[in-house]
Amino acid sequence: MNVADRPTLFISDLHLDEDRPEVVELFYAFLNQRAMRAAALYILGDFFEVWIGDDDDSPLASTVIKQLRRLADRGVPVFLMVGNRDFLIGERFAEMSRCRLLPEPSVIDLFGTPTLLLHGDSLCTDDREYQAFRKQVRGAEWRSGFLARSLQERSAAARELRTASRRRSRDKPQAIMDVNNGAVIEALRTHGVYQLIHGHTHRPAIHRLEVDGTSAQRIVLGDWNDTAQVLVCGANGNRLETFGNRASVTPHSPVD
Ligand code: MN
Repeated sequence: MNVADRPTLFISDLHLDEDRPEVVELFYAFLNQRAMRAAALYILGDFFEVWIGDDDDSPLASTVIKQLRRLADRGVPVFLMVGNRDFLIGERFAEMSRCRLLPEPSVIDLFGTPTLLLHGDSLCTDDREYQAFRKQVRGAEWRSGFLARSLQERSAAARELRTASRRRSRDKPQAIMDVNNGAVIEALRTHGVYQLIHGHTHRPAIHRLEVDGTSAQRIVLGDWNDTAQVLVCGANGNRLETFGNRASVTPHSPVD
């Protein structure tokens, strides 16, 4: 296939975890089949269920790094934006896996259309409790304090945070955990673009909206469970596709 004809692929919310080996296998199959023929691969956050630091030497971390590097070595650039679960992914991980870290927000040229990329959690402004938590853990002080602890301590702390987050999510109305429409319009307006791609909410869809009289598009990526959710973008447009079929995969919690 001519390089110019190759699609650009977007994925997010794989929540790779050693407790979900089927999803990990599905990802490797996706990398070696679908992604190998892509012009580029964008991973928009919550790639890992949890990331406790680039010094993580678990078998999962090592194998994922090796697999990503293989794709990059075949000439497919991999771009990675962090999510709320794996925001501690840093330069060392990027170097080892040969992917490029994308700052959040980023605007890219997607087949001629300027496109804003976000993980998506920053748009969920109705969830004030979460936004306060986000602000705290994304600060330099929290980060350096956390990373100074031993791998074992970090792992235990991450498990606690996850349990607390699940408990909070369960008690919240679904609408609070979706994006706020005003925040979406504000983000598009701020960056002067009419196309947005994000994940996080696990509600894959292509939404049409209007920003100051101009039609715009918000593309939401899906999470990975029994199948992989992939956004395929080409010169002829964008479509959400599923890849693979693993009926036996443990279902992931539908939110966050
Ligand atoms: Mn997320």
